[in-house]
Amino acid sequence: MCLALLSGLLSASFCPAFAQQPATPKEPAEKPKPRVRPNDAGVAIPTRFDMLRGAYGPYRANNDLLYYHLDIRVDPGQKSIQGKNTIRFRMLQDGTRIQLDLNEALNIDKILLDDAPLKYQRDTGAVFIDFPQTLRAGQTYSIDFYYSGHPLETGRFGGMTFKKDPAGRDWINTACEETGASIWWPNKDQWRDEVESMDISVAVPNGLTDVSNGHFTAKTDLGDGYTRWDWHVSYPINNYDVSLNIGNYVHYSEKLGGLSLDFYVLPEDLERSKPQFAQARGMIEAYQHYFGPYPFVKDGYKLIQAPYSGMEHQSAVTYGNLFTNGYLGHDWTGVGISPLFDFIIIHESGHEWFGNSITATDRADMWIHEGWTTYLESLYVEYRWGKQDAIKYLNGYRPKVHNLRPIVAEREVNADPTEDQYFKGALMLNTLRSVVDDDKKWWTLLHDFYQHFKYQNISTDDVIAWFNQSTGMTLTPVFNQYLRRAAIPRLELLFGEAPGMLMYKWAADEENFAMPVRVGTHGHWQTIHPTTAWQVMQTPLSKDEMQVDIDHFYVDVNKQ
Ligand SMILES: [Zn+2]
Repeated sequence: MCLALLSGLLSASFCPAFAQQPATPKEPAEKPKPRVRPNDAGVAIPTRFDMLRGAYGPYRANNDLLYYHLDIRVDPGQKSIQGKNTIRFRMLQDGTRIQLDLNEALNIDKILLDDAPLKYQRDTGAVFIDFPQTLRAGQTYSIDFYYSGHPLETGRFGGMTFKKDPAGRDWINTACEETGASIWWPNKDQWRDEVESMDISVAVPNGLTDVSNGHFTAKTDLGDGYTRWDWHVSYPINNYDVSLNIGNYVHYSEKLGGLSLDFYVLPEDLERSKPQFAQARGMIEAYQHYFGPYPFVKDGYKLIQAPYSGMEHQSAVTYGNLFTNGYLGHDWTGVGISPLFDFIIIHESGHEWFGNSITATDRADMWIHEGWTTYLESLYVEYRWGKQDAIKYLNGYRPKVHNLRPIVAEREVNADPTEDQYFKGALMLNTLRSVVDDDKKWWTLLHDFYQHFKYQNISTDDVIAWFNQSTGMTLTPVFNQYLRRAAIPRLELLFGEAPGMLMYKWAADEENFAMPVRVGTHGHWQTIHPTTAWQVMQTPLSKDEMQVDIDHFYVDVNKQ
């Protein structure tokens, strides 16, 4: 996810979610000041919509998604959409009702099972569908959900936007992680269950191109002024990753081994896109080095110009970072590393491994997408420029963390986690590397963690259990302190009860919190093993001389 759009860190006049993106970037905006969003400080009370959206209720839990065929026609003049989603699912238990979702602004034209209309009931964004006969556990069913209307342009991502490109041609895009995919198409709008594969057919006026997820299969002139573009997704896919990118795109491609890299940009930006998009190759090589093959080889990797900063749409990453390094022209972490690379190419594409291949089961666990992918940025830096720059880059994120609420939010209520999930999540993983204290082992852990959970939907508990088992360490209190508590651990250092004596312990919310940490002076670190009970050590260092290795451990320190 594009975090400037999420956080509002950038001025409205500069952020393309709020204003049409200029063809040529204007003067870079002033360096943004971090600010506390309302949801960094507190939790909103869920609405009825949130409860129905967030809950994995009985009419979701009674079935397992297998396949979607989204087959639609988009009318730029009317700013409307019309078509159907064919939804195939297997019943996990006997039942006569299932829950799907569609934004209330859109009409339901009909819902068919074997050409027979089904009854349904709408309740905020939910659509409860009733079957005249019991659907049987273990059996597979397919329904056709016909809908039409004017999708809302809403949320900082836009939902579905009908814009014009800088030359005045139609430019229609979707980006709906925040609002949910049901803002523009009917689906089972939650994170836990994904289809195994999907077809996307999009009819658009002749002359326009639709680039969606997956592998391009066909382009058909429908003879009525419209052309249908067909795409096939060969892997499980999140609903919010399904996307339309309709515009006057030009296309070029290259190969990275057996992987197709395809690039779609507006014609005016063709030349300046080429040197910038060349970064995609090095990005994929870096992530493959750490985690293994690009997850969606059959679908290929695409980078598609869009009128907002960027989004990790699976195998179809969207890009609006002004064809320049950094993040919308800024040194994003403020320590001189960010200008070395294009933040959107590196961050959004990292989500192919964490977010798209490995997916959280609930928005409450979204740090599995964003904390990990922010950490992946530093892996890219390490792969290209070495560990020192990677650590420097990561610690540039420190001022962006607020520590006002836990980064894991309440489950099953469509919760909006704090933005700390990005930066604090990455700093926690960097800390974990120092706790493991063996880089060779750390690289193996990262690789094996990804390989173990790829193409799966997992929770925070799954992550913790895997790391406990794979390291042989008791890491639950460490993960819990960083993920489920607002404050980070604070190392209490009490000097001078007697000459040369230092008392130390952790102040932490988690009972039994224990974590090694390095103290001493730069180049002469010593690992100590504080718990929440005082321990004593001898040291020749004075209070002023004694340092804590906070570059490698994201902790607070209180020296007295
Ligand atoms: Zn992201």
